[in-house]
Amino acid sequence: MSPVCPGRSSVLRIDLGAIRANYRAIAERGAPAACGAVVKADAYGLGIAQVAPALAREGCRIFFVAQLCEAPPLRRALGGEGEIFVLNGVDPGGEEACAEQGFVPVLNAPGQVERWRATARALGRRLPAALQADSGMSRLGLDIGDLAGLAADADLRRELDLRLLLSHLACADEPEHAANARQLERFAAARALFPDVAASIANSGGTALPVRFRLDVLRPGVALFGVQAGPAMPPPRPVAALHARVLQIRAIAAGEGVGYGLDYVADSPRRLATVGIGYGDGWPRSLGGVGAAFLDGVRLPIVGRISMDSLTVDISALAPEALAEGDFVELLGPHQSLADVAREAGTIPYEILTRLGPRHLRVHVEDDLPGDAP
Ligand SMILES: *Cc1c(COP(=O)(O)O)cnc(C)c1O
Repeated sequence: MSPVCPGRSSVLRIDLGAIRANYRAIAERGAPAACGAVVKADAYGLGIAQVAPALAREGCRIFFVAQLCEAPPLRRALGGEGEIFVLNGVDPGGEEACAEQGFVPVLNAPGQVERWRATARALGRRLPAALQADSGMSRLGLDIGDLAGLAADADLRRELDLRLLLSHLACADEPEHAANARQLERFAAARALFPDVAASIANSGGTALPVRFRLDVLRPGVALFGVQAGPAMPPPRPVAALHARVLQIRAIAAGEGVGYGLDYVADSPRRLATVGIGYGDGWPRSLGGVGAAFLDGVRLPIVGRISMDSLTVDISALAPEALAEGDFVELLGPHQSLADVAREAGTIPYEILTRLGPRHLRVHVEDDLPGDAP
């Protein structure tokens, strides 16, 4: 592995070909439902400017972001194509910008519906909108009573062009959980109020549930980016590889401590490498004394606490010439998956991905060519 990024200590390699393959697999399995893509939080930290066009090349036409501020960069990335839904809806004061640019807010609360309808009346034209039903997660969405009132309001459809009715599953990653069927049933009652509007309930986990959860539009996010949607699903292609540079190599004697607090004290002579990635880069501090880096499949345990800009691994298992200052070690890759890291860090892959910070050199590649790790 040769250093490719003077001035940066880590390289995040994003395989757009793998994202496309993952999208294709979900879309084909989910047909005839249309397959959208959730690309909030900068496409889960992987770069919306590159990820969105890759999905569009696979035929994706429906995109979801969380906030209005994420929509214009997405539209630019897509060259003006595609329909962009804003999951958090429209904030007070954001209505005009949202309307002007043609983004579709997901209206979650009665107040949001009211403000968006008032905007439509003020502008004198119908505005596009989606409605979210709360089917039991108690996070965002209108309850069935609100929805019934809206369905009975003859003015609603004159003011709003309803593009989607959606709801979100609390336990989609647990296929056997009773809440899934219960939420689908409650959502059916909401759908019955708007029978002509396309419906959507399946996030990544939902795409792995029985066919009746697919409805008209799928909304996968994390499964596009290399995380298995459910036990029934074929494993996705890994998308992100992360390598960081060795800053310094040293040998320490028994009894010497390592890092802040000297949490780790060597019980025998050890060889150590200090690696240029830390919690300031989104590498979880909880991996101190728990996680590892890898070199050619050899596990290099993290010793001591993780610093903001570095961590220290024990390289005693390597031949002395196997690793030199300036070389790169693997944090995410063939020997350590996103799921492995999340488990060891006591979190979920979503959090690992979305915290990967701006200091990593992001390299987007179209296809996974063997042997071209950084
Ligand atoms: C984030 C989100 C998704 C995507 O979820 P994944 O589990 O990443 O597939 C879908 N729908 C809504 C409403 C979301 O907030």
